[in-house]
Amino acid sequence: MFQKILIANRGEIALRILRAAKELGIQTVAVHSTADADAMHVRLADESVCIGPPPSRDSYLNIHQIVAACEITGADAVHPGYGFLAENAKFADILAAHNITFIGPSGDHIRIMGDKIEAKRTAKRLGIPVVPGSDGGVTDEKEAKRIAAEIGYPVIIKASSGGGGRGMKVALTEADIDVALATARSEAAAAFGDDAVYIEKYLQKPRHIEVQVFGDGAGKGVHLGERDCSLQRRHQKVWEEANSPALNAEERTRIGNICAKAIADLGYSGAGTIEFLYENGEFYFIEMNTRLQVEHTITEAITGIDLVHEQIRVASGGGLSVTQDDIRFHGHAIECRINAEDPRTFAPSPGTITHFHTPGGLGIRVDSGVYSGYKIPPYYDSLIGKLIVHGRNRVECMMRLRRALDEFVVDGVKTTLPLFRDLVGNPDVANGDYDIHWLEKYLAKGE
Ligand code: ADP
Repeated sequence: MFQKILIANRGEIALRILRAAKELGIQTVAVHSTADADAMHVRLADESVCIGPPPSRDSYLNIHQIVAACEITGADAVHPGYGFLAENAKFADILAAHNITFIGPSGDHIRIMGDKIEAKRTAKRLGIPVVPGSDGGVTDEKEAKRIAAEIGYPVIIKASSGGGGRGMKVALTEADIDVALATARSEAAAAFGDDAVYIEKYLQKPRHIEVQVFGDGAGKGVHLGERDCSLQRRHQKVWEEANSPALNAEERTRIGNICAKAIADLGYSGAGTIEFLYENGEFYFIEMNTRLQVEHTITEAITGIDLVHEQIRVASGGGLSVTQDDIRFHGHAIECRINAEDPRTFAPSPGTITHFHTPGGLGIRVDSGVYSGYKIPPYYDSLIGKLIVHGRNRVECMMRLRRALDEFVVDGVKTTLPLFRDLVGNPDVANGDYDIHWLEKYLAKGE
């Protein structure tokens, strides 16, 4: 087991990892920018190292500073959290070269899944159902039109290096292809420095369903069920549920087993999420994230398994603590991402939190790095906390969520709490009757 883990992240996820490490009796090192000197993860860590000024590229993305912090403190492993360097293959390789364990998959697996064309090819080879489309990249209009005619309109042109929902263009008919291809390529080149694009069928009313997987790196793989993250704004998840209100037990087992087998065959190590669009009873792979997700907490709620413990165990060579047969799903869980944002315009609302009171009671978990008197710096994302609610079934979960949202107090900055108070009372949400466009339409109506 590791002696000391350096946490290369900030905010709620840094605290989340710190808690898991402490439970396992492992020393923790926090790194922070000058803007985060008063952050909770810095206060609670055994040691802390300032790694640079506020901009992420000079601190949380500064590989040299982070490796130096490991050397100074004698950390033998690094947990990258999510975002920042979590899916940076070069970072994983550099740590390996310094004999420091990266708590995550190999650099090669990160690289394959980071290139969407390669990821889709790999998924297909492993028997995962994919969205019908081009086999590889598409460069000229003639080829794009031929493929689009084959799969049928509408189609979507996507950047191979894409992320955060950028570099995607929909073509409704053949007349749109020339412009869609040219703009997708130039946007991809500008945003990602890579103009490779591919084409696939555009699904009209899908749900976003993702499967949590784990590999032990030695040929074993398990799945921990799925999460439904269809409630999105600008491709950013807002509200997540486990299990999905749309799947039945047979579908859950079928897609879960396909994913677990793929992970085993790949020899994958650590936590991963295989993301699908789901429409008319069919699953279509869109991408794989090679890290812990923000919404991993709802999987923890329904399985009772601490995913960060598992990550640390696997990375230290201790293997998984569970087999597929040990994994059972209990009840229903929902996560709301509380952002310091205006609940109508979604403009960031940095500033000082004058009062912070979190709900409690059975089935309630709040993961947050903030406290009364905390000043939210303007440099990073606006997530200030996650409210995770668990109940024996979805109805109980929703009742408890409504009560928890009423208790939650954040004064001094604007937050998205009012949005969740509206959503929890909405009949479509209550019925689990929504697709990936539902929230955008709801917000556009300004209800
Ligand atoms: P990113 O890495 O940029 O998030 P994804 O491939 O995960 O890109 O897609 C992001 C979102 O874009 C999906 O959740 C979905 O809303 C939409 N999308 C992607 N591919 C398709 C498709 N083939 N049909 C319909 N919507 C899609």
